[in-house]
Amino acid sequence: MKIHEYPRPPGDTGIGLHWFPDAHHYRPNDLAAFAPELSALGVSWLAMVSDLDHTVPERFIRGLRELGIEPIVRICPPKVVYLDPERLRELCRRYASWGVHYIHVYREPNMRDTWAQWDPRALPERFMTYLLPCLETLYSIQGLIPLLTPLAPGGDYDDLRFLSWCLDIIIRLGHDYLFDKLAIGIQNYAFNKSLTWGEGGPVRWPCAQPYYTPPGCEDHVGFRLFEWYDALVRKRIGRSLPLICCENGLLIGNVEHPDFPPVDAGLHAVRTVEICRLTMEGHLPDYLFNNAFWLLACEADHPAVADRWYTPGGEPTLPLTVKALKEAEKLPRPMPSPWPQEITMLLSPVPDQVQAEDDKVITLPLEEYLKGVLPKELGTEAPKEALKAMAVAARGYAVAAILGPRHGHHAAVCNTRHCQVWSPNHHPVTDQAVEDTKGRVPIYGGRPVATYYFGHCDGHTRNSEDVWRQALPYCRSVPCLCGYESLYGHGVGLCQRGAVEMARRGVTWPQILAHYYTGLAVWSPRSVITPTLSEVSLASRWEMDVERHPGPPVIAGRLPSPGITITMADEWGNAIQTASGSKAQHGEGGFEVMAWGAGCYTITFLDAAFQLKMDQQGVFLTFRRQAPILRP
Ligand SMILES: [Zn+2]
Ligand SMILES: [Zn+2]
Repeated sequence: MKIHEYPRPPGDTGIGLHWFPDAHHYRPNDLAAFAPELSALGVSWLAMVSDLDHTVPERFIRGLRELGIEPIVRICPPKVVYLDPERLRELCRRYASWGVHYIHVYREPNMRDTWAQWDPRALPERFMTYLLPCLETLYSIQGLIPLLTPLAPGGDYDDLRFLSWCLDIIIRLGHDYLFDKLAIGIQNYAFNKSLTWGEGGPVRWPCAQPYYTPPGCEDHVGFRLFEWYDALVRKRIGRSLPLICCENGLLIGNVEHPDFPPVDAGLHAVRTVEICRLTMEGHLPDYLFNNAFWLLACEADHPAVADRWYTPGGEPTLPLTVKALKEAEKLPRPMPSPWPQEITMLLSPVPDQVQAEDDKVITLPLEEYLKGVLPKELGTEAPKEALKAMAVAARGYAVAAILGPRHGHHAAVCNTRHCQVWSPNHHPVTDQAVEDTKGRVPIYGGRPVATYYFGHCDGHTRNSEDVWRQALPYCRSVPCLCGYESLYGHGVGLCQRGAVEMARRGVTWPQILAHYYTGLAVWSPRSVITPTLSEVSLASRWEMDVERHPGPPVIAGRLPSPGITITMADEWGNAIQTASGSKAQHGEGGFEVMAWGAGCYTITFLDAAFQLKMDQQGVFLTFRRQAPILRP
């Protein structure tokens, strides 16, 4: 599986907490006490412990899923002992059927106290004789993602060496098929160090050694531990694997590093909110899936009592942190794009400012490339909405070229009119249009498509097959407001002068795209936070009729009027947008998109939100406003 194919919760914020550190708080009233708190804190992930005898009940797991929370189940016997594979299989099958995806077995095997008899010699080998059968069991259950057991950072046996050995052993014993569906558990505590401690990983800090960090050097023991793990994983496997956080955050009173102040309640609040902000705003790598702050709550006699955020009854014991995190704005994390974010470009001619290799091919981040295209292709004088429509069209053209290079194997595009004209010069206005639409990619039938455009037309655009041989369903002839009497350019797709004229008349960029590209949807890197069902029924005055019919899984339908943005999100938080009126065959407010998988979709527009189940057939949706209820 690729990173973006691993499950994530809907509207994923990346914020997570660790539930009680025992298996005795899965009663209905425990969840009832904490459900409003978890929602207010923006929690999308919850780590929880279990063992073969004390399991998390179905009602609890299903309750979490209804809150949109992804459970991480930790099967933690007190010591590393042999686990009966049949009992493990039976338990994990049940968890999978209730909607659990992520499970790990054992904890912190690099610590002395998790072993009945501690012997650091060949410790990873001995551990893997216990773990490998468990990983195979989890791997064999459909829907489950096995986690490589999280290690204590640092630890009695250095965690980097331990992890490295575990990966080597999997490869050496011929079990590398596990990497198709494996994730790695991580406990990236921040301790009392700054959140940038160790940033850059082993490449930047080659001076770091196990248990010895020379003055002026930084090591892996801190919040940025994920960079160190990822460097190690990429070195062994050649690509990143998801890192699933099982514990992290700050611990009150921690003085791990003498040069930094101890963690008090104020620092705890500030750093916790900062970690959440870094996660939600897209400053952390895609392979790091979540946080799991230690510790939501525990009983007063538990050794971790100083770390708890709440009493078992739900009273905050770290009120500053709770208040600050509740007040922080909650955003879904940007989704990892399923396509590359870099573009290769053949330079002809090579602009003066650019240093290119002999073959004149350079590689640029996609967004940086677009900032060099927009001033050349539309100029800096056009209205904002036209620039944004153009930025998305240029991005569509570029992504289609990345997936199907236009210049042989070595370059996706060139910098001339043959592809899109590019120069290294930026302009603040066009930069802003690229930023405002960052990551948004036009798709048709679930795939990115080349969104062609041209200077101006003669009052209507052309069907693609009338100009080229290929009939592109999203390039249909439509009337255009550009006001010219002659065609300049190929006439297929978006008319730039027409887009400028529409923007002058107050038309928004999604509507401009929907006008020129029939049935187009826009993939967005941010999914929507879906309101809960009770909120929907209170807030919405809309009703939805569903007709199902055999055929491809197309979601078509109509709203009473055109120009309304519609967002469809699946359960993993993938979302696309379209607009009513973009598919005229279905009426004035018609729309149509291809579902990209079976499952439950959330459809939102204006103040309405509906759930829709899709299987292998098409649907037609009719949305109506309910008649207002008049008071007598
Ligand atoms: Zn070209
Ligand atoms: Zn035109």
